[in-house]
Amino acid sequence: MDQRRRVPRTDTVLAAPELIAAEGRLGRAAVREAVASAQRRVRQGELGPDDVVGAAVAALPPRATSLRPVINATGVLLHTNLGRASLSAAAIDAVTAAAGAADVEFDLDRGTRARRGRGAMDALARAVPAAEDAHVVNNNAAALVLVATVLAAGREIVISRGELVEIGDGFRIPELLVSTGARLREVGTTNRTSRADYLAAVGPETGFVLKVHPSNFRVEGFTGSASVAELAGLGVPVVADIGSGLLDREPLLPDEPDAAGVLRAGADLVTASGDKLLGGPQAGLLLGRRDLVERCRRHPLARALRVDKLTLAALEATLRGPATPLAEALHADPEALEARARALAGTLAGAGLDARAVSSEATVGGGGAPGVTLPSAAVSLPERFAVPLRTGEPPVVGRIEGGRLLIDLRAVPGARDGDVAGAVLAVRD
Ligand SMILES: *Cc1c(COP(=O)(O)O)cnc(C)c1O
Repeated sequence: MDQRRRVPRTDTVLAAPELIAAEGRLGRAAVREAVASAQRRVRQGELGPDDVVGAAVAALPPRATSLRPVINATGVLLHTNLGRASLSAAAIDAVTAAAGAADVEFDLDRGTRARRGRGAMDALARAVPAAEDAHVVNNNAAALVLVATVLAAGREIVISRGELVEIGDGFRIPELLVSTGARLREVGTTNRTSRADYLAAVGPETGFVLKVHPSNFRVEGFTGSASVAELAGLGVPVVADIGSGLLDREPLLPDEPDAAGVLRAGADLVTASGDKLLGGPQAGLLLGRRDLVERCRRHPLARALRVDKLTLAALEATLRGPATPLAEALHADPEALEARARALAGTLAGAGLDARAVSSEATVGGGGAPGVTLPSAAVSLPERFAVPLRTGEPPVVGRIEGGRLLIDLRAVPGARDGDVAGAVLAVRD
């Protein structure tokens, strides 16, 4: 009998244990579609009737999201296109714990409503004692929108011409600020702005003075800017957008401002990202004077910028928990990285591949520490490995340099070296 007439029945195929398991993971529609596609191939004579289950299983994705976990071997610690900071195991566990019903705004002892996200706020207060109060929104851009709306809608934000910054992908801070109905009062020049420039511009129309950290570029030569300390005392609030979310000084990144330092210097409010150097989930932090934070929290817009319980859980665990993957990568010992690169290259060369350990330079990236390079180590491979590694499982994204593919290890957790080796060997096979 013609094979094509022996297409197995859908209900029989769906009863296969592998497909029942896949249905639990991916839902019925996805599994039915994969089965229908395999049955079509049998009808067209491309597949044997006994291979329908196997073909359907092989065609199904591993999970119900199309987002794929990637090994970041680019040497850019905070890679915006790869989701910036990786969460710590503690933060991932916290997200899982909060995923179902959780006491995000419920007091279990009293059985009454409670302040939303109080655990994360307490952790922030503990991490930055210089801040009288804290509030969390979706991202730093949202924090800026909220502050601009609350303190300066219909009024002026005084800002240096040297700090009218584009962050990336066309996101320009001045355009964001103006979208709130605030007017920008630009002072100084691209390369030099002094306290006197701000002083001359501050008046009854001033909502606040904004300092924006030039987090993704550097201006060198005949330059000058007024510090937060110089601007405190002008009689109007000073808001500092520090960008990176560094809460305290980081000796490795001496030019990167930190929230505690900027508040001590006299800033009234600090805004920052949760997923840059803080190493947590995407979030926007607002830290500083109690009355100003409270006004932000009470504004109707705050509800539209509110973070969900998953973010609150991950943020709290990032603040209270062990070192983040970002901190591990930032503080990785260059000699240990070299040893890892040598071992990995040795394994690959031993399998006959053109692989060698080379020294490399990593960067912080993601809008942090422009111009800073971190000594790193990489495995150098022929460039032709780039595409198959990127599209393999797990995807390994390296960087091309001098006609070679570099697998930079600084942002790769040591525990993943075996997976990297496996991925490279799978390309060769
Ligand atoms: C990254 C950055 C932002 C934007 O932060 P998001 O959290 O991505 O919204 C704003 N300001 C500065 C100075 C930055 O570096």
